[in-house]
Amino acid sequence: MGESREASETAGTVVTTVEDFDRLTADALPNLLDRATTHTRRFLRETGQWADDISHEKLALRWGYEFLERFLVCGRAEVPCRPFLLLDSLIAKYFSQAEPLCYHQGLLSPLGRFLDGLTSRAVVSRDALMALFYHLYGFGQGQVVKVLGLGAAESQRVYKNFERWRRTGWERAMTEIGITDEDLQEIEDQKHRGKNFDAETERLIRTIQSHYRKSEPQHFPCLSRQQWTDLFDQGYGYDYRAWHLALCRDCLVEVYLLRQDRTDDRPPAIDLQVRPLLKGKVVSFVLKHRGEANGSGRAQRVSAWPP
Ligand SMILES: [Zn+2]
Repeated sequence: MGESREASETAGTVVTTVEDFDRLTADALPNLLDRATTHTRRFLRETGQWADDISHEKLALRWGYEFLERFLVCGRAEVPCRPFLLLDSLIAKYFSQAEPLCYHQGLLSPLGRFLDGLTSRAVVSRDALMALFYHLYGFGQGQVVKVLGLGAAESQRVYKNFERWRRTGWERAMTEIGITDEDLQEIEDQKHRGKNFDAETERLIRTIQSHYRKSEPQHFPCLSRQQWTDLFDQGYGYDYRAWHLALCRDCLVEVYLLRQDRTDDRPPAIDLQVRPLLKGKVVSFVLKHRGEANGSGRAQRVSAWPP
């Protein structure tokens, strides 16, 4: 009983400064995550979307992380507030939207979870946003700079984004969205089998992108060919280019065609890459929670990559 009174006191705690908000949320992170995951589980149950299996547990946990991350970003702007109740309201607001993305059946597969998790990170992390160009289309950093038409200063940022992603960002993202080495392997095997893989990937990408674009209203609208041309010719809207083109396949194709004489000839076909772009030839990069059984096989495959 003491425990539940303590819990309700925590839930009702008011913070009045940003420093207090940071302190309280840092101390209560596990509780906040648990709360967010529980809300998600309950929502899925109440809407008949739940099954007692590992993929649904992972889904709930992944959404829990997702909510927590958004809460940590936006919560500081809401001070003074009751952080626990603020988290509740953020989640309730999300689930009351017309079509929460977690309804989508295709997102329970490793491929769906990978694409969804990566895109949801791109909404809050510029490193992940830039990494999308690589993971979806195989673009290297130079290609990203060319397609986006970036100047020297912005290009430097892209190189830093790629570097951080390669060093720590990717691995952290995979851990947080619950993608294991087996999941990555399954996606790669699917890709090598080839059948309908690119079409299925593209279909999922479109669903996911249109969902996440809504989270950034100022960067949401698609531009006409003429508007894109003006934007590039007149050299403005760098943020718009980076954000929208990473999250809109149609506009990326449009812009790519527009800029074809100034970029490589390769059309921006779907070319899914699940591991980060490696700098050196041999990187035996393995996730912490991979199974030990096929460890040596995994290391060999990774060091042989890219082919
Ligand atoms: Zn668009």
